[in-house]
Amino acid sequence: MNCFDCDHAGDVATAIAICSDCGAGVCADHAVVRPHHLTRTATINRIIVVEPPARLIRCVACATAHDAADHPVEPHHELFRRHATLGAAGHGNFVM
Ligand SMILES: [Zn+2]
Ligand SMILES: [Zn+2]
Repeated sequence: MNCFDCDHAGDVATAIAICSDCGAGVCADHAVVRPHHLTRTATINRIIVVEPPARLIRCVACATAHDAADHPVEPHHELFRRHATLGAAGHGNFVM
């Protein structure tokens, strides 16, 4: 298989990977490799990030689109903080 992006530019390069999103073949120049953190759900629906990260390969177009839409890691912590706060408030209102 040849690189989709190279072909688009009129070049020919052998694909070394496939974009995990659009399925296009990508050469070394057009492959974008990112860590892909798997998660598992712990007790009471807490989401735990699993280390080490897996590998995710995308083409330049998909990587750019995901970077634009990607949520940074912070919202996870934000969500966790909110849960923690809710939990604390819940405890305060809890009548034994
Ligand atoms: Zn290429
Ligand atoms: Zn793609």
